[in-house]
Amino acid sequence: MKNLVELDKNHFIHPTSSIQQQQEYGPKIIVEKGDGIFLTDKEGNVFIDAMSSLWNVNVGHGRKELAEVAKQQMEKLAFSSAFSTFSHEPAILLAEKIASIAPEGLNAIFFTSGGSESNDTAIKIARHYWRIQGDTQKKKIVALKRGYHGVAAASTSATGIPEFWSMAGRLMEHVVHAETHYMKGTQIAIQSLREIIEQEGPENIAAFIVEPVQGAGGVIVPSEDYLIEARKVCNEYDILMIVDEVITGFGRTGKMFGIEHFNLQPDMITFAKGITSGYIQLGGVIISDHIHEVLKEKSKGTLFHGYTYSGHPVATAVGLKNLEIIEREGLVENARVMGNRLLKGFQKLQEEIDIVGDVRGLGLLGAIEFVQDRSNHQRFAPELQVAVKVIEALHQRGIICRPVTYEGVDIICFAPPLIINQYQVDTILERLQDAILDVRKQLG
Ligand code: PMP
Repeated sequence: MKNLVELDKNHFIHPTSSIQQQQEYGPKIIVEKGDGIFLTDKEGNVFIDAMSSLWNVNVGHGRKELAEVAKQQMEKLAFSSAFSTFSHEPAILLAEKIASIAPEGLNAIFFTSGGSESNDTAIKIARHYWRIQGDTQKKKIVALKRGYHGVAAASTSATGIPEFWSMAGRLMEHVVHAETHYMKGTQIAIQSLREIIEQEGPENIAAFIVEPVQGAGGVIVPSEDYLIEARKVCNEYDILMIVDEVITGFGRTGKMFGIEHFNLQPDMITFAKGITSGYIQLGGVIISDHIHEVLKEKSKGTLFHGYTYSGHPVATAVGLKNLEIIEREGLVENARVMGNRLLKGFQKLQEEIDIVGDVRGLGLLGAIEFVQDRSNHQRFAPELQVAVKVIEALHQRGIICRPVTYEGVDIICFAPPLIINQYQVDTILERLQDAILDVRKQLG
């Protein structure tokens, strides 16, 4: 039999991974199969996939229905271009379906293959929108510190986690970052947004991009008024608002879109992940009727933007079936109910264990932060690697989730599949308590 560990080390460069760690220890786990909320590795160990892998496997693993629809579509029409207005049924039907579930006034979809491409596309559309109206100056993008928008050119720049610029620089000019609402609250964050806009000149700014809940930055849920205030600022300065729903879209937060928690209308929504629950690559941008009207009227000639796989027939067919499953099984509502249960469990842990600092969540998107001293938010020394240790302790107890450690925080994130039931939530909580207590003991 082939030595998969050696072959991995020799030939597989992993995304967002330490190459040195891989060379020393080999792959962390070789996953063999998935079923529901569970993953099984090559040795037969079973894990709860408490992150839905990369916040994306919303309907859970092993759905034969999705495999079947992909097979049928591949046999009928595996690929056909959507360039030059060629079209096909799955892409048309999925676009119409997304329009029907998207917030009011957002009805036209540009498809991509993932979140990074979606954010790059939204940023280009924002600039294009101003340019075709004769305003070539409005091209800067304002994003938030700790925001994550992907790793393509514009999305790397928009990402507000400096570690992602360490590989090759910030890539795109004209991107500036305002303060996040994390730890600071609405008022300071909105003031910072205003200051940045004033400083850069609103006449130079095309768009503001923001996640409803900052995901990779540490599951940072804004207070209820932050996004509403941000929308007002965008209106006041004539700046488009792009809402990045790559994680929060399609039920994750207990609403179909995360922005529905905050009663406002963005100009564009970017999506990926949950649209196919990760069964196949797909993403896109939902565009407001207003932008669509301007494009229809003023975008002359060819729109020189398109990916070979924009509107891929198999991906869009799977997306359509995936949305059908989410609706048929009431998974948005389940995410809301199970999310509340998970958050209550986190709150109980906070009462019981002193190193549990802030706990938060919205639907099935949750996080726990570890601190040395809760009274003054004092963090642990980074070399103690508290979050990493808890993740490791969870791994030993058959639970996969993910740490966030940028800029000295110790956060662990949870985003289990939306199909999770109350017994499974309780299992996660029991093992979590055990894992934290174990690490607490190690810390002394
Ligand atoms: N935006 C957000 C909010 C994300 O969480 C991610 C991925 N984690 C992306 C964009 C990038 O998506 P992708 O990895 O599919 O390019």
